[in-house]
Amino acid sequence: MAISKMNTHENIDKPKIVDPRNARNPEYQQQLLEIEKSGKCPFCPGGQTFIDESDMFITDNEQWLVKQSKAPYANSAVHLVCILRTHKIRLGEMTEAEWTSLMPLIEQALLKLNINNDGGSLFVREGATELTGATVCHLHFNYVIPESSENDTKIVTVRFGGWNGAPEWERPN
Ligand SMILES: [Zn+2]
Repeated sequence: MAISKMNTHENIDKPKIVDPRNARNPEYQQQLLEIEKSGKCPFCPGGQTFIDESDMFITDNEQWLVKQSKAPYANSAVHLVCILRTHKIRLGEMTEAEWTSLMPLIEQALLKLNINNDGGSLFVREGATELTGATVCHLHFNYVIPESSENDTKIVTVRFGGWNGAPEWERPN
């Protein structure tokens, strides 16, 4: 089966922390290559995100930290990144408190940003980055609200999967 074959790519001795192959552009790929070399997870305390992006942090609780995305998706009015406080890579590892405390914190972040809480999209990638297209393995949820006006809502495109060994910007759609 394809799934079990994919699992053989996992290196248990040296777990992957980022996947530069899934970067959306060469600049981001370069940053990820440097993070990979450092061996330090960017979403763990003291990691690159805490060094470079503390001005993007909006709110937090015991389980989560919510920040604005440094590279929001095109056509998004809001793109929040919700980072789990504990380094986990699979949804099955999440505790009940982590699940239940997420949405109230997102609501709090929207309130702080003075954004209408009329609806949005919450999504997450978990596990093998060849399957998900994730760049950072440490579990994080994205919350996206597209740009809209009275009679027009823009399209926000998010990619899952599609990995073929090439950088994302060189892959066919
Ligand atoms: Zn981490």
